[in-house]
Amino acid sequence: MQFKKEFAILLPLWKESSKWGVKVKVIKFGGSSLANSQQIKKVFQIVQADSDRRIVVVSAPGKRHSDDEKVTDLLIQLATSHIEGQYNEAILEVILERYQEIYDELQLNSDVMDKIRQHFAELKESTLEPAYLIDAYKASGEDNNAKLIADYFTKEGLPAKYISPKEANLFVSDTPGNAQVLEEAYKELEYLQLEKDIIVFPGFFGVTKDGKVVTFSRGGSDITGSILANAVSAEEYENFTDVDAIFVASPKLVHKPLGIDVLSYTEMRELSYAGFSVFHTEALLPAIKKGIPVHVCNTNNPSAKGTYIMKGKVNSPSIISGIASSSGFVSVYIQKYLMNHEIGFLRKTLQLFEDEGVSVEHIPTGIDDATIIIRGEDATDEVLDRIVYRLKAELNADEAYYERGLCLIMLVGEGMVSMVGTTARVASTLAREQINIELYNQGVSEVSMMFGIREEYEQRAIQALYDEFFGEEVEYEVLDK
Ligand code: ASP
Repeated sequence: MQFKKEFAILLPLWKESSKWGVKVKVIKFGGSSLANSQQIKKVFQIVQADSDRRIVVVSAPGKRHSDDEKVTDLLIQLATSHIEGQYNEAILEVILERYQEIYDELQLNSDVMDKIRQHFAELKESTLEPAYLIDAYKASGEDNNAKLIADYFTKEGLPAKYISPKEANLFVSDTPGNAQVLEEAYKELEYLQLEKDIIVFPGFFGVTKDGKVVTFSRGGSDITGSILANAVSAEEYENFTDVDAIFVASPKLVHKPLGIDVLSYTEMRELSYAGFSVFHTEALLPAIKKGIPVHVCNTNNPSAKGTYIMKGKVNSPSIISGIASSSGFVSVYIQKYLMNHEIGFLRKTLQLFEDEGVSVEHIPTGIDDATIIIRGEDATDEVLDRIVYRLKAELNADEAYYERGLCLIMLVGEGMVSMVGTTARVASTLAREQINIELYNQGVSEVSMMFGIREEYEQRAIQALYDEFFGEEVEYEVLDK
């Protein structure tokens, strides 16, 4: 890369300090923050407001309104039409119009639209294998947006440079649609902090060692931001989206829930398991591993406090940091007398699920019984019927049956570790609501507890638990002083 050579002379002097003394924040904007020119103007204001915001990772333009289409989804349709030999010019036009509208409204005066048209013309002639062709189309959503945004920043007086994952050597595995960063990429990307202009970097894809474009899983611009934050040892990874904070409970289930100020990575992970959908938590891992705080902020309200996600334990003012829930689980109940004496029974049971290709989520056990919890979409009724049959026929279970419609509620909080009585509060709250607890599980770490209820009670249960732990008149009593 150009700047690597430029700075080569300085490197021996700078190498001693871990970050070469450069202060940099990586700032990522999601699709809704970049859906049109008004949003991009907000993004510009945000980047300009802090001189440490030097590496800007961008998504493709997202939805402008609820029934709009994301550019990435349009690109997938275009790629599919190409692969099926029925290239859909109409979709291409819709995509080009999205970029043209942004270009016109930002009053740009560069050759970027020509480059974008040229790019699609070349893609149309491409003979890549289908999996790589789809990725090449998908990646162009962020790639073209990054070029437009860099031009706009520069025009507005903030010198900015588009840098591609290819130029920067963001090396990834050769697994189309599901790229994994290669360890050696971090060393290559470290140099980005030495660039004097603002870098506008397209999210969502990298390149294989032999130069093929491969995308991360959907929503993967978060992954790009996290990788870059790690590589340049950023002071912070700011992730701008369209909510003021991560909420303590889903706004779909609770009216105007409180926002969370700080969350540990472990808490975030547990919450997202049970339905919190702000991030794929794996996406944050590269930044978190290096101890870089992740700050979730709102492009439409940048002065809101947002939520920090940090490595290690955090001091939260409340016992519970968040309540998540997820429906559609299945419980497979197995009973066998003297199960606890039979060496290998659980192993054989799990082997049976493995044979049937079904992933197991939880296994609460009793003395003579066990319940295997799986996700509803992981097994058809036919597969479940076969599992039940085999449990009886091959493992001689006295009883075996399955039930769909289980909802798992997860209460998460580092604050629970030193508190007595949290389980009792949850149980009595649900009892007051006449909701039966079908199963209960508390992790050894005591950072989370999980309750299983019938899914028709989900909304009522979450509202009641929210009122119990976050309602105004609640006072916490520390019992283990
Ligand atoms: N544009 C991609 C998607 O819609 C990646 C992203 O936005 O993070 O999945």
